[in-house]
Amino acid sequence: MGRDALSIGADTFAFFTRNPRGGRTRELDQADVQGLIDIMRAHGFAPLVAHAPYTLNLCSNREEVRQFARQTLADDLRRMEALPGSYLNFHPGSHMRQGVEAGVGMIADALNDILWEGMATTVLLETMAGKGTEVGGTFRELAAIIDQVNEPLRARLGVCLDTCHVHDAGYDLAGDLDGVLAAFDEAVGLGRLRAVHLNDSKNPLGSHKDRHERIGQGDLGLDAFARIVTHPALRDLPFILETPNDLPGYAQEISLLRGLAG
Ligand code: FE
Ligand code: FE
Ligand code: ZN
Repeated sequence: MGRDALSIGADTFAFFTRNPRGGRTRELDQADVQGLIDIMRAHGFAPLVAHAPYTLNLCSNREEVRQFARQTLADDLRRMEALPGSYLNFHPGSHMRQGVEAGVGMIADALNDILWEGMATTVLLETMAGKGTEVGGTFRELAAIIDQVNEPLRARLGVCLDTCHVHDAGYDLAGDLDGVLAAFDEAVGLGRLRAVHLNDSKNPLGSHKDRHERIGQGDLGLDAFARIVTHPALRDLPFILETPNDLPGYAQEISLLRGLAG
């Protein structure tokens, strides 16, 4: 993975901690991990941003689904200790008509049980599009989860801002980036913002859809990305592409974005 990243001009990357639809995993090979750590050191990589499976739902209305999500997240965090200083991003969950407040409470309870003092990973809550009963479609909902996680574990939490999701959630990133970041700062605090998923959107502002588009080819547009990658509050964060693309396509998007970053 480190070599693929280098070959396309990247200096960070995301990876799934297991099959994104869930499922089993094998133990990490320590030699593989060391090889990656060496590449990252030699090339000054930013922290890696792992992604937990999409299917995890810590606030499902079904006990067995919640239990599975807890076990998976706990196991992924245990294995990630091999790559200290990385991020593990996850989708907070869908409350399945139990209500936002109940969902927020279940997610925070799970994090209180799963995280531990001294862990080497920072867990990132992803900003969501607010599709269906998704929790995390507003900055306030993410703040509510974080507030209910106890210190010292709260210090292990951050947020990953997904530009497609935030746009689809109704925050006008293209028209008022400063305003959106001020709203984030007021609700969550910009100090918690640790990573950005850079995606254009196939749908209009506030559509609550979550369909990613290639950079500059969607509703956000290239000018919005020029402002995003150069904004003082964002420019030093790891940027991850989740656009519908292949490896050569990602190389092009990275060079396009590096051009915008100047
Ligand atoms: Fe995601
Ligand atoms: Fe994302
Ligand atoms: Zn998405």
